[in-house]
Amino acid sequence: MSDSIRMPEVHINLNIRGMKPSATVAINERCNELLKEGREIFKLGLGQSPFPVPGVVVDELKANAWQKDYLPVRGLRLLREAVADYHRRGEGSAATHDDVLIGPGSKELMFLLQLVYYGDILIPTPAWVSYAPQAKIIGRNVDFLPTNPANDWSMTAAQLADHCAEDPGRPRLVVLNYPSNPTGRTYTAEMLEEIAVVAKQYRLLILSDEIYGELHHEGKHVSISRYYPQGTIISSGLSKWCGAGGWRLGTFTFPRQLRWLLDAMASVASETYTSTSAPIQYAAVRAFRGGTEIERYLWRVRRVLKSLGNWIADKFNAAGIRTLAPQGAFYLFPDFGPLRDNLSKRGITGSASMCEKLLEATGVAILPGDDFGRAKDELTARLAYVDFDGARALSILETDENVQIDENFLATHCPNVANATRRICEWATA
Ligand code: GLU
Repeated sequence: MSDSIRMPEVHINLNIRGMKPSATVAINERCNELLKEGREIFKLGLGQSPFPVPGVVVDELKANAWQKDYLPVRGLRLLREAVADYHRRGEGSAATHDDVLIGPGSKELMFLLQLVYYGDILIPTPAWVSYAPQAKIIGRNVDFLPTNPANDWSMTAAQLADHCAEDPGRPRLVVLNYPSNPTGRTYTAEMLEEIAVVAKQYRLLILSDEIYGELHHEGKHVSISRYYPQGTIISSGLSKWCGAGGWRLGTFTFPRQLRWLLDAMASVASETYTSTSAPIQYAAVRAFRGGTEIERYLWRVRRVLKSLGNWIADKFNAAGIRTLAPQGAFYLFPDFGPLRDNLSKRGITGSASMCEKLLEATGVAILPGDDFGRAKDELTARLAYVDFDGARALSILETDENVQIDENFLATHCPNVANATRRICEWATA
């Protein structure tokens, strides 16, 4: 036997066998390949902010490019103070810097949390594509709680209570994400208060993924930590509201009572990534301190996202694609179910084949509801309305704060999203 064929055999951890790359990452790479081949592609797959990082934050990164030392595993103290202050200002939280953990993206922190916490993971669906695969990699049991548009795609307190009552003593981590990726909807303060009552009763741990909190379209985000401080971990970061997905900086803020979780996560972090990029952490201090420039930036960003999201939802509903108007973030979760007869004649029986055929026929990339934990035969999909030049849109608003963000503005400054919307409507109703 020749040496060249004496290679290691394929031995993959059972939990990971058959696993594919994350749907959000895969669609982005696929779109980039298709663009390279010269295809006309509308990138509504990956949820990446179209807006630039605020200038004051970029300046801070430039000024700190020389910072080369490893920082503490929990994060730069100045940044942890800024994050704690930020949650104190926004939510009246009692957190101090000792309650904050900085990581290379909140995605990594979520993975660490699921690794160190021993319990079931409870996920209302539709849900972001990576929560459940992370649990699978680690070997945690996942329970899904399907929601529906009549309930605003939100989990109800009664639904949570029914689930917990089946086995009251079980340790559980509930993942709540609002404003929601993928639906763009959010929870009202009353709904969060009701969920908090159930969480207290069953001593649940809540991972409150508030990465889109600052992108609440009215600037009125409320955290469940107000009603259940002792059991809520707030997840945030720079990726969405600060337009800095590629900078990879996430934050977890814990109540004092959950310091044991923070400590365990920090130990694992010290054995894996050591610490988060130093220049990025220094720049993040500026972002979390906020101030007039950041507030102005957010005000403009919200205006554009709100108008664009509502405009698309209106077009979809007029075409018979059932869509709830967004309240935050940059996603819509349209349901093509009312057009099922029409689509099934073209061999479309579920969300995966629907999105595949849509991409082939129109160049519009969106992700199937299946990737977000919905039934395979449901004709839902997630659309990230981010394929436009956010810097250009912001510069128009800078010159004229009161400019109307109407059909004309969107067609001129967000042409890819406007064209993609038209193509989806025409394709679905053809
Ligand atoms: N959170 C974004 C999305 O849902 C992109 C990043 C990611 O999934 O890791 O598209």
